Amino acid sequence: MTYDLIIIGGGPAGSAGAVYAARKKLKTLFVTSEWGGQSIVSEKIYNWIGSPSISGQDLAENFKKHVLANVGESLEVKEGKVVDLTEPKALALASALGSVFSVKTESGEEFSTKTILIATGSSRKKIFAKNADKLEHKGLTYCATCDGPLFDGQDVAVVGGGNAAFESASQLLAYCQSVTIIHRSEIFKADAVTVERILKNPKIKVIKNANILEIQGDKFVEGLVYEDKTTKEKVTLKVSGIFVEIGQIPNTDFAKGLVPLDEGCRIKIDAWSQKTEIPGIWAAGDCTNILYHQNLIAAGDAVRAIEDIYLHLHTK
Ligand SMILES: Cc1cc2nc3c(=O)[nH]c(=O)nc-3n(C[C@H](O)[C@H](O)[C@H](O)COP(=O)(O)OP(=O)(O)OC[C@H]3O[C@@H](n4cnc5c(N)ncnc54)[C@H](O)[C@@H]3O)c2cc1C
Repeated sequence: MTYDLIIIGGGPAGSAGAVYAARKKLKTLFVTSEWGGQSIVSEKIYNWIGSPSISGQDLAENFKKHVLANVGESLEVKEGKVVDLTEPKALALASALGSVFSVKTESGEEFSTKTILIATGSSRKKIFAKNADKLEHKGLTYCATCDGPLFDGQDVAVVGGGNAAFESASQLLAYCQSVTIIHRSEIFKADAVTVERILKNPKIKVIKNANILEIQGDKFVEGLVYEDKTTKEKVTLKVSGIFVEIGQIPNTDFAKGLVPLDEGCRIKIDAWSQKTEIPGIWAAGDCTNILYHQNLIAAGDAVRAIEDIYLHLHTK
């Protein structure tokens, strides 16, 4: 059997895409490794329109409920990780159907489809410093929501200067004795209002223009060494937890053999339609080369893609 559409990813983009595809009665398979996407770790989200405040967990649960409510004749759901997309095959039916793609999951299942919407978002960028690998999950962590409570009453550092870093710092202030934000440049990328609010807290310290060289500790993090980029001085900071929030890398590995990516491994799209450079494949949200990364933008991008996919399938 050949699907009209396979949607990969269960964040705001993929979930919105699935609801729209089902309502348009496209024969769709929705595959995701997890539900909810990146902001699932957020304690509170204040800009999901229609919800003045909602936790990341509740938002993820709502996405899942909304998608599952549309399961039926046109929409099927599968939990799993896509590991490969293969070249369009020139089938006998090709002239009538266009290209047919094959989508393979980690469990070895393979599905055939006329179109694909890639909505696989992005994951945390890892820190490259001496001992960072060794001390990951031993005081060096990428999730304040998950691990913050373990550092009750302790001194910790947050590495980064964007919204995610400030959000982590905000969460950690609830438990930790002090939170030092270490940023590699002079200017924070986080929203001015958030920066102002967090920096007012007397438990916050800030180190700017710092290049982290080493994570210290034997069995568990004991501190870090950074270079002050202005003075070139090497400085040791004693902390027992390090929370890294230095950006994202797109989840596009499985697609790179087939779909052109930019230098940052993001899928190149046409912003009018979400089309990739491969006819029959669309992409939406944080896995693409768009400038802004927000839940509503990702959902809207996917809706745009579904409109275009519907037109593509019905104007052949
Ligand atoms: C800590 C944090 C807080 C944030 N807070 C906010 C906020 O308050 N407001 C806001 O608007 N934005 C916020 N953002 C940004 C927002 O979360 C992202 O812009 C948005 O999640 C992007 O949605 P997406 O659907 O493109 O991708 P993602 O949310 O990354 O979802 C991708 C989905 O694809 C799945 N997936 C990945 N690879 C595969 C694969 N190979 N096979 C199958 N499934 C796969 C993942 O499991 C996931 O479900 C925050 C981000 C972070 C990191």
